[in-house]
Amino acid sequence: MACKLNYVRNTSVAEHFSVLLPKQGASIPREDTSVAEPEAPLPKPCLNLQIQVYSLDERGNPKVSEERVPVTDLFGSSVFSEGVMRKRLPANVYQAIKRTIDEGAPLDPHIADIIAKAMKDWAIEKGATHFCHWFQPMTGVTAEKHDSFISPTPDGRTIMEFSGKELIKGEPDASAFPSGGLRVTFEARGYTAWDATSPVFVKEAGRNITLYIPCAFCSYTSEVLDKKTPLLRSMGALNTQAMRVLKALGNSTSKRVLTTLGAEQEYFLVDKKFAERRLDIVLAGRTLFGAAPPKGQEMDDHYYGSLHERVASFMFELNNELWKLGVSAKTQHNEAAPAQYELAPVFATVNVATDHNQLTMETMQKVALRHGFFCLLHEKPFASVNGSGKHNNWSLVTDDGLNLLDPGKTPHENETFLVFLCGIIRAVDKYSNILRASVATSGNDLRLGANEAPPSIISIFLGNQLTDILNQLGNGGEISPRKREVLKFGVSTLPPLPKDYTDRNRTSPFAFTGNKFEFRMVGSTQSTSGPCFVLNTIAADVFQEMADKLEKADDVHASAQELVHKIIKEHKRIIFNGDNYSSGWAEEAKKRGLPNICNAVDALAAMADKNIIELFERHAVLTSHEMQARYDTILERYCQEIHIEALTTISIAKRQILPAVMDYSGKLAGTVNALKECGADAETHTKVLSNICRLTGELQSGIFSIESTLDKAESIEDLRDQAAAYRDEVIPAMASARKAADSLEMLVDANVWPLPTYAEMLFLR
Ligand code: ADP
Ligand code: MG
Repeated sequence: MACKLNYVRNTSVAEHFSVLLPKQGASIPREDTSVAEPEAPLPKPCLNLQIQVYSLDERGNPKVSEERVPVTDLFGSSVFSEGVMRKRLPANVYQAIKRTIDEGAPLDPHIADIIAKAMKDWAIEKGATHFCHWFQPMTGVTAEKHDSFISPTPDGRTIMEFSGKELIKGEPDASAFPSGGLRVTFEARGYTAWDATSPVFVKEAGRNITLYIPCAFCSYTSEVLDKKTPLLRSMGALNTQAMRVLKALGNSTSKRVLTTLGAEQEYFLVDKKFAERRLDIVLAGRTLFGAAPPKGQEMDDHYYGSLHERVASFMFELNNELWKLGVSAKTQHNEAAPAQYELAPVFATVNVATDHNQLTMETMQKVALRHGFFCLLHEKPFASVNGSGKHNNWSLVTDDGLNLLDPGKTPHENETFLVFLCGIIRAVDKYSNILRASVATSGNDLRLGANEAPPSIISIFLGNQLTDILNQLGNGGEISPRKREVLKFGVSTLPPLPKDYTDRNRTSPFAFTGNKFEFRMVGSTQSTSGPCFVLNTIAADVFQEMADKLEKADDVHASAQELVHKIIKEHKRIIFNGDNYSSGWAEEAKKRGLPNICNAVDALAAMADKNIIELFERHAVLTSHEMQARYDTILERYCQEIHIEALTTISIAKRQILPAVMDYSGKLAGTVNALKECGADAETHTKVLSNICRLTGELQSGIFSIESTLDKAESIEDLRDQAAAYRDEVIPAMASARKAADSLEMLVDANVWPLPTYAEMLFLR
């Protein structure tokens, strides 16, 4: 059941209060009774939602009815989950597909027909008429082409069909997707292949319901054209190398190492009536003009503030939509900037979490429109307030539940933890250039290093306790672990709380947060695939080095100690527990020899680095050809994004701002003349007018400069040089036009200003 179309709140006031008040006659215990009562059954959690549900009537036709659905039933109700498979598939087929999902066993094509039929029957019961291969081309967003299940019969009727072949393989025309030259337009063939490790689901769009099959996407020559394939390959590489290390260290129980991801997603909500009057928001996803509002985020009164009713209703519906799709939306809160919010799910394997993050971004935008909002995912929608990131919480977990980054109570004695921790420290320092490249986008250039986001310098926060332990290990001395302290409020009624071993550090780009690393440089619009497959691959590479040593060692523990000792000595420079926002850090980092690459074009050059190409080839994540193609695709995208922003800037300036300003200055000139004619003092009016005229001139020359720099950039053939021209010439020209326009905004009558203001967009709901 459960294909919801819309919710109707259906809780009476009495019902509502009955949840909060004790039942009549129930006594409230005065003191602790030592004999425990038998546990009462938990009340069935109910959202009291009425949702529209699709099912089949007695003749097998889809029907829509309304039902009340508790969250526990709603969650995953649109997913062809393991539970559904267990119920609907023959035991041997279920076992076979489980082996693929759990153990990475190759998918047996013979069982595909049986699975496809079960999927189709299940999807039709949910009201689906179509299926689609859902894949992630290098555009960063998802792609889908729907086919209906219908198969006409000779007698003019139709049956609903879906074969194993259709489930496993699709052949979308690949010519219109970016390929970086891997595929020329006349060779249009592309293939999608079912990724059985990420669950199939049904999704509604308006009244259309479709069965979605997560897929990888490659060219006719089997070269990778998408974001999923390298991620899956990198998970395999990491598993292989991490398992070697684990086995060498004596672990005989774990069979697989999985990489996990919890992606915190930041976003802005802007009232649709303002957003749709801003071409920059509509086309570029961010504001290209706008004077700073009198109030920004300086009062810190939005962060974690109580939720606005309209926003809370949006979140309510967003959660329900995501829960249906099996996305475990967990945390929601106001973020630092006005109109900024965050959602964090419960973590999953990187592959599933990446698919879920794509669904989250898409659902946010869809549900926002239903609530009269535009959801902005851009890294910097508004100058002068915080931008948005996507914190990638990443860890390594074995199939038998061991988190390799969990220090436990005695980290100094936890050999497995120390070896894996040090492996990651070495990987991040050794390959910081490609990690930096994995977050290089035009949008992120506006955010990294501003006052709200990590700088462009990659460093690791470990916290004092771990740093102490590593320092002591590095010096080869005795280890004296810190005692766990207790937090005291000084209020007798408040409980004493055990202190965490480390404080938090919000400013670090790569922070150890208890049992995982949090990679904070990722941009809010980015697919999590890129940063995660880079992290997986660089970690796999260092684990490989370690395994090579440990497997050969006579005394594995002595060898592990030696490895840890060596890594700490060599890579100490990457550890920084201080304030990454401070200007002193840039100086200090320079002394330590840490790169500070502050723009995407320079950062992306790592993709052409021989060592990096060899790294990805070594682990069979990307061939050098695929790497080159990916590099070109990303550069092309960088140029296109700035190109669109530049044209949008010109359009708004010429067609909205200049006409309004010229009109207004004409009126003002009339007033000046009238004042002079009647002998009044026109000095102030004249001054304002001449300021407006000066700024109008500056805006006009800014526009000319964008036009000429754009022409020049477009004519450059080499992609790297072209991207550099966009960065060095087009962006500064856009900035000078904006500066003039924003100053004009502060001089011109608010009633004639053609664009909704920052104050309206950030503060009015
Ligand atoms: P913060 O306090 O950093 O904002 P949140 O609670 O918003 O933290 O988000 C933390 C994220 O880290 C969640 O998505 C959570 O599921 C995820 N997480 C927790 N443990 C792990 C783990 N072992 N691997 C990956 N992600 C994890
Ligand atoms: Mg958070």
